[in-house]
Amino acid sequence: MVVLWPRVAAPTVDARSLAAEAFADAVSWRRQLHRRPELSFQEHETARFVEETLASFGGLEVTRPTETSVMGRLRSGRAGPVLALRADIDALPIREESGVPFASEHEGVMHACGHDGHTAVMLAVARVLVGLNDSLNGEVRFLFQHAEELLPGGARDLVAAGALTGVDAVVGCHLITPLDVGKVGVPSGPFMASPDTFSIVIEGRGGHAAFPQESVDPVAIAAQVVVALQHVVARETDPNERVVVTVSRIAGGTADNIIPESVELGGTVRTFSTEARERARTAIERIVAGVTQAHAAAYRFEYVEGYLPVDNDPELAARVAAAVERALGANALTEIAPIMGGDDFSAYQREAPGVYFMVGARNEETGATFPHHHPRFAIDERAMENAIAVFVEFARDLLAVE
Ligand SMILES: [Zn+2]
Ligand SMILES: [Zn+2]
Repeated sequence: MVVLWPRVAAPTVDARSLAAEAFADAVSWRRQLHRRPELSFQEHETARFVEETLASFGGLEVTRPTETSVMGRLRSGRAGPVLALRADIDALPIREESGVPFASEHEGVMHACGHDGHTAVMLAVARVLVGLNDSLNGEVRFLFQHAEELLPGGARDLVAAGALTGVDAVVGCHLITPLDVGKVGVPSGPFMASPDTFSIVIEGRGGHAAFPQESVDPVAIAAQVVVALQHVVARETDPNERVVVTVSRIAGGTADNIIPESVELGGTVRTFSTEARERARTAIERIVAGVTQAHAAAYRFEYVEGYLPVDNDPELAARVAAAVERALGANALTEIAPIMGGDDFSAYQREAPGVYFMVGARNEETGATFPHHHPRFAIDERAMENAIAVFVEFARDLLAVE
C-alpha cells in the first residue's frame, strides 16, 4: 500500500513555464485532431496519431488497451505511487459551424466537446513528464480513452483491460466554456450525475378519431403520463437532493383522423446516488403503470443505467487544488457547483481515488461562449496551457523524489 498524502514537496520545477514551452505543440496537435474528428468507438485515426506521437517522445511504453484507445506508461524504475491521467478522445455527430480555419473535414462529425483539447493536453503532459522522469518516483499512465460520449462508454473497457490495476490515484480534466479561461475548478465530493435514459411505450387501441369510444387513445394517456412524471421530482424528491427527470421525446400518430395504436416517450434521469436513482426509476414505472391502468391501456418500460456519478475524492481534490494554486496562482481557483451532466470518468473512481477537475475555456471576445455539443462550440486554446501546467505540477508533487 502506497501512502499518497504524507507531505507536499516544495516546487523545484516551474510547471507554468514548462507548460508555456509545450503550448505551441499542443495547439498544433489539437488543430490536427480538430480537423479529423471521429465518433465514439471509431477513433482509429485518432488512436494512431496518439500512438505515433507518444512513441516519438521516447521513454514511454505505448500500448493499445482496446482497438481505439491508447495507453502510455512512464516508469521511473523507482518505487512510488502509480498515477493515471485520463484524456477522452472522441467527437460527436454534429455538423461544425464554428468557422475556424481548422474546422472538421469529416462531414457531420465535430469535436464539439473539447476532447481534441484534452488529447493534445495529455500528449503535452506526457512529453513534459518524460523530460522530468529523473526527478519522479513511481509511474505515470497516460490513458487516451475512446468513447466518452456514447453509452456504455470506453472507460469500462480500459478498466477491464487492466489499465487501472495498481493505480493509486486517477486524475482527468474537462475544458469547459461555462467557465472563463484562466479559472480552474476542483470540485470535492459528488460532482457529476448519472445520466440514465428511459423509454416508455403506451399501448392503446387504434381507430377512427371520430369514434374515440371504440379506441383506447394512447395520445391522451401519454399527455397525462408526461404531466404525472413531473411529480417524481416536484413531489417525491427531497428538495435538498439533486434529481432531474426530463421527458425529452414523444412520438405517435400519423394523421389527424386516426387514433394510433401506441405512443412512445423517452427521456433522461439524472441523480447523484444509487438510492436516488432507484427511487426515481421505481416512481416513474409506478406512475406509468398507474396512469395506463386507469385508462385501460398497457405499457412497456425500459430503463438504461448510464455512467455512475463522478465523485471526487476530497483528499486528492485538496491536493489538486493546491497544485492549481502553485501552478497558476491563487486567483485561478474557483468554486464550481455540481452539474447534472455525466462522464464515464466515474468508472475509474471505482478503481482508485480520483479527481475530475474543470478548466475554464470561455472567452467572450473570441466567441468561445457556445455550450458544449453546439455546432459553434469553440474554446480559448490558452485553457490547454493552464491544464498542462496543473497536470505537470500535480504529477511532480505526487511523484517527487525526496
Ligand atoms: Zn460531451
Ligand atoms: Zn466532454
